Amino acid sequence: METTHYEFQAQVRQLLDILSHSLYTNRDVFIRELISNAADALDKVRFRSVKGESMSDPDLNFEIRIDLDEKAKTITISDTGIGMTKQELIDNIGTIARSGTSEFVKQLKADEKNVTLIGRFGVGFYSVFMAGERVDVTTKSADPNEPSWIWTSDGAGTFDIAEGPKEFKRGTSVHVRLRDNAEEYAQKWKVQSIIEKYSNFVPFPIKLNGEQVNKVTALWREPKSKISKEQYNEFYKFIAHQSDDALTWMHFSADAPLQFHSLLFVPKTNIEFFGIESPDEGINLFVRRVLIDAHDKEILPHYLRFVRGVLESDDLPLNISRETLQDNPYMVKIKNTVVGKFLSHLHDLATKEPDIFKEFWQSHGRIFKEGYNDFPNKEKIAALFHFNSSKAARVDELISLDSYVDHMHPDQQEIYYLSGPDRKSVENNPALEIFKAKGIQVLYCYDPIDEFALPGLFDYRKKNIVSADQVDLAKLEKIPAESGDVKGKKKPTKKDEKDLDRLARRIKDILGAKVEDVKLSDRLVNSPAVLVSQGMSSQMEKMMHIYTPDMAPKPKVMEINKTHPLILSLLAIYKKDAKDHILDTVALNLFNSAALLDGTITDPQTMAADIQGIITETLSLYDKTAESDADEDSSIE
Ligand code: ADP
Repeated sequence: METTHYEFQAQVRQLLDILSHSLYTNRDVFIRELISNAADALDKVRFRSVKGESMSDPDLNFEIRIDLDEKAKTITISDTGIGMTKQELIDNIGTIARSGTSEFVKQLKADEKNVTLIGRFGVGFYSVFMAGERVDVTTKSADPNEPSWIWTSDGAGTFDIAEGPKEFKRGTSVHVRLRDNAEEYAQKWKVQSIIEKYSNFVPFPIKLNGEQVNKVTALWREPKSKISKEQYNEFYKFIAHQSDDALTWMHFSADAPLQFHSLLFVPKTNIEFFGIESPDEGINLFVRRVLIDAHDKEILPHYLRFVRGVLESDDLPLNISRETLQDNPYMVKIKNTVVGKFLSHLHDLATKEPDIFKEFWQSHGRIFKEGYNDFPNKEKIAALFHFNSSKAARVDELISLDSYVDHMHPDQQEIYYLSGPDRKSVENNPALEIFKAKGIQVLYCYDPIDEFALPGLFDYRKKNIVSADQVDLAKLEKIPAESGDVKGKKKPTKKDEKDLDRLARRIKDILGAKVEDVKLSDRLVNSPAVLVSQGMSSQMEKMMHIYTPDMAPKPKVMEINKTHPLILSLLAIYKKDAKDHILDTVALNLFNSAALLDGTITDPQTMAADIQGIITETLSLYDKTAESDADEDSSIE
């Protein structure tokens, strides 16, 4: 019989090398992965059969068999599923087409416990080489007239494919010859305990040495009162390929006018934060007990992509294709109901279990905030948004938009936020000074997505949401200052104000095109100057700069603080001699330091030269004093 010899793709070799040489803990995972592949293959063939398509061996029962041979040290996991053609064998278990694998290999190298995540990266099959020294996969596709094939490998870099026995029936059989140190996987108690732990919820009978060992129940169709916390978590671990418990779940069924069952889980962690796109995104969609789509991405919106779970409806047609699903009117109604219920579930969590909600927000908040443009659900989504704020004592203290609005000053008309990379830089932003002085709460935003999400919401409970560095100061006028800083400040006289205006004009002349204008400020308390943008907030501008680096930033308005000692000294010099050279040096440095705080320095070379200029000037003044001191000294002599 003809055998063809193949090399594994380089990425597969790398993965196999780690799996077969350096991993000794969590090896149980391979049984879970092979059972899960068998169950997937059965789901696929069942779907094909309900659609009435022709297939080989149509009378076979849908089931998984596990046969152990302690003497021969083998375990064989067989299914009557969809099977594979020769080409599918080569494509599915010889190459990895998915992205994310090299990331996974890195994680494995860093910590072998990560092997439990293997199924989430879509490379679960290869885990068989943690325990097996030789693996034979015999398979026959459900496509009629396909022969059977045997794939064989020792996981060392190559595999062989030869034609299989004529009598082999539809499905796949994975025969594993165990390594010397992995003989326990041929023992019944061991394999049974693994099935109980990981595979109790497989929706097909699992027969271990001929005896059925699992209950085939659809947990989501059972009444809530009959299900324990442990069962929920066990089910979650099975469908989400997880080893941790779920953070929270929602089990919701509807009878009329729509009929469906849903069981949705929120994982504790979010792997997207590691820059990895999860290939197992989407929930399991069942119609009348048949899995139509294992990764349905239509029911839940993209901003809930971290959710794992199941939805089943008997109202949908069985022969529905994934493509037409989204246009089905029942589907649209089910989707709206489920999303609404799920958002209410999160809302309950926020009010009744704030610690769990906080964990949710830390893991998934960044992705959830992408939901700002789900307009029909806008109020519900915004109600879940939480931020750190100027009134919080610590960086991990979060408040909701509701709490913000509830605590607003009676004369406050808008919701204010300010963005920056971290708490310290937001707190030091001069734009915040007027808010601090008046005791107005400002939400602190550290995520780049906030720059889209908050202006995207536009308003909440009829209050506009405005970036603090773009506030129209007239809106704050009625709110009195609380802190001594502003209260105690003397307002400049009318005459001073005129001189200050002229000084501002002079500074504008010096700075030229660097600024749009120079104006006297009412928002500053402690800082001498601030840059204010007209269109978008500074943070947004910085982000735009990342995407379009060639677009020159628009010059900003520089506001100067008419009560600040620096400005008042400058005014004194200006009044003596409007042409004094020091005015140029100070104006440039005032601008530079404001740009530095604003985070929008575009030309550090010129800035350094300006700073050196003022140092030179100061030193020369100092030198003159030294010279005159020396003169005095000599005169004494
Ligand atoms: P995943 O199952 O997450 O896709 P695996 O590495 O476990 O990743 O399997 C790779 C592919 O091999 C599967 O997607 C499937 O197409 C095929 N496969 C594995 N086991 C079986 C099986 N028992 N029957 C049919 N196809 C299988």
